[in-house]
Amino acid sequence: FGRWLLMSAYHMTEEALLAYIREIRRFRPRFIQAYPSTAAILARYMVEHGVAPFPTVKAVLCGSENLYPWQRDLLAEAFGCRVFSWYGNSEQTVLAGECEESTHYHIFPEYGVVELIGRDGRPVEGPGVLGEVVATNLTNYICPLIRYRTMDLATAATGPCTCGRHYPLLERVEGRLQDFIVTNNHRLISMTAVNMHSDVFDNVVQFQFYQERAGEVLLRLIKKPGYNDRDTGYILGELDKKFEGDVDVTIHFVTEIPRTRRGKYQFLVQKLPLDRWGISV
Ligand SMILES: [Zn+2]
Repeated sequence: FGRWLLMSAYHMTEEALLAYIREIRRFRPRFIQAYPSTAAILARYMVEHGVAPFPTVKAVLCGSENLYPWQRDLLAEAFGCRVFSWYGNSEQTVLAGECEESTHYHIFPEYGVVELIGRDGRPVEGPGVLGEVVATNLTNYICPLIRYRTMDLATAATGPCTCGRHYPLLERVEGRLQDFIVTNNHRLISMTAVNMHSDVFDNVVQFQFYQERAGEVLLRLIKKPGYNDRDTGYILGELDKKFEGDVDVTIHFVTEIPRTRRGKYQFLVQKLPLDRWGISV
């Protein structure tokens, strides 16, 4: 793969971001590979400060986390190129990626066999129906995992893709069950419904939802200096629309939002034990 310039996801302060941008320009990379959440921090800084895209970067490669639509838009805007997302897991049962012609995930069947299973334990029928990704690894001869439940939800797409590759396709990967907010009447709302790349969060540095009771969430916010009560009203109003009035949101202002041990940034800390489309108790 040639040369790499590695940058820490843990130290993305304003001063560090400036230094990162300088280093990236000097290094002239062709690709940027990152967690979407950390790439978005850099991208947001660039857009807000009018920093021009890096001319050498041909694509941004994102994996290991859900890529939300607002992140895709933000990254494309800041870096001036296409964003490619791939989907896999550390158990190495599934690998899928986008091609140059579509944003559907092409499943590599020589790596693992993927099934989408519904709540009745049977394969879901047809494109667009949400199922749990259940996968069988084909490359691990020491500890094979057979029909391993990933707890990720996805929908299938109809193929073949116009690129001509005859791989089975996933239309959307909704991410982990733990990425859903549970409403008061136990409906699940995907975090993809919350658009952070809109003016609602203009005066917010970072946010994180925290849930431990159905129908109630805590929203941790790091304020920007210009933040005021109007922002609070706007945010609560918009979230109320998204949650259709079925989730009580309480805002807590914080100065820091911790990352996971692997450096990932979680938009939702879900403490409720979720199982396929419901709370498992
Ligand atoms: Zn394709």
